[in-house]
Amino acid sequence: MLEFSSRTESFTAYTPGLSMEAIRERYGLQRVVKLASNENPLGIPPLVQDVLKRRAADAFRYPASGNPRLVKALAAHHGVDETRIVVGNGSDEIIDILFRLMADPGTHNAVSFRPCFGIYTTQAMLCGVELRQAPLRDDFSFPWDALLALVDRHTRLVFVTTPDNPSGCAASAAELEQLATALPPHVLLVVDEAYMDFVDPETGGEAAFSLLSRLNEFSNVAVLRTFSKSFGLAGLRLGYGIVPKAVAERFWRVRLPFSVNLLAEEAGLAALQDTTFYAETLRTVREGRRQVSDGLKKLGCVPLPSQSNFVMFRVPQSCTASDVHEGLLQRGIIVRPLNSYGLPQYLRVSMGTAEENSLFLTFLQAVLAPTEGVQN
Ligand SMILES: *Cc1c(COP(=O)(O)O)cnc(C)c1O
Repeated sequence: MLEFSSRTESFTAYTPGLSMEAIRERYGLQRVVKLASNENPLGIPPLVQDVLKRRAADAFRYPASGNPRLVKALAAHHGVDETRIVVGNGSDEIIDILFRLMADPGTHNAVSFRPCFGIYTTQAMLCGVELRQAPLRDDFSFPWDALLALVDRHTRLVFVTTPDNPSGCAASAAELEQLATALPPHVLLVVDEAYMDFVDPETGGEAAFSLLSRLNEFSNVAVLRTFSKSFGLAGLRLGYGIVPKAVAERFWRVRLPFSVNLLAEEAGLAALQDTTFYAETLRTVREGRRQVSDGLKKLGCVPLPSQSNFVMFRVPQSCTASDVHEGLLQRGIIVRPLNSYGLPQYLRVSMGTAEENSLFLTFLQAVLAPTEGVQN
């Protein structure tokens, strides 16, 4: 009989929820709007679409190992040295490699807040690394002292997602600086900035929330970014990190040579060029946040202030989040239930186009007041 690693015993397959096609069929709908995975509301950047068509014929070739053109472009984009850039098959792959790069199974631990992004949990388990978690405060702000209290001499990684998923709360650059300074020098602070592009310029923009522009001052900080959200490439799987040089050197030694495929690399290069699409994305998301948060409040829901491309909200006392989720599904709107984050009374809605957002609000009103036909 075959024997398996005990580390994989408790794994369940990732459940992405019903597909758009399945929902269309099940409920006999014309149109389904997916606002569940924080994808780009505007689709794929036009420049990327062009380059994918042009380069499709080259896909019989292996990509250049180490993706040197993309690394160079990202270094220029962020004004950092090329030796600090890593790229991966989504930032998911980079997270996985960081566990294996930094920690020994059964010996070392990693630290994060709870709830956290599911990939930290699953890859820690798979890599045999204990993940210690400090619960977020009731208002979803970050309890830094509780996080630091979990760090010991066996800690190798600390993960902070900011703006956070699913709350949308962002840490200040000053808080991150304090954390980086307080951590022992053997611990790598990984700041997952998948949603950093979306922070509000009126509250200071990236400079107020990210250490990226000052990363040279820190020897123990890695920043992760992704092409999946603001750049609209979720389906191509492309993420990157700006990491200490020593981490990048080891990273390239262990990463599978071709994990970022040829078309993804071309798409990433083109996405960096498509500044019109990028600016339009940010404008759409920031306006959407206002539209959706205001609309949710009018319907008696409690949205959290968000610096991200989604809004998390509590449904009114009179109903359950799972009924609201189901009611929206029946009308063709897919939002994200948060049971897996331990937040069964909340839902998370990704920002769509203005028209998709108002469709969401209209159907939500119908779900919340099914018999009254409320007009307001
Ligand atoms: C979406 C997301 C990512 C990005 O993942 P990719 O693998 O790059 O698609 C990373 N971290 C968090 C917290 C996310 O929500």
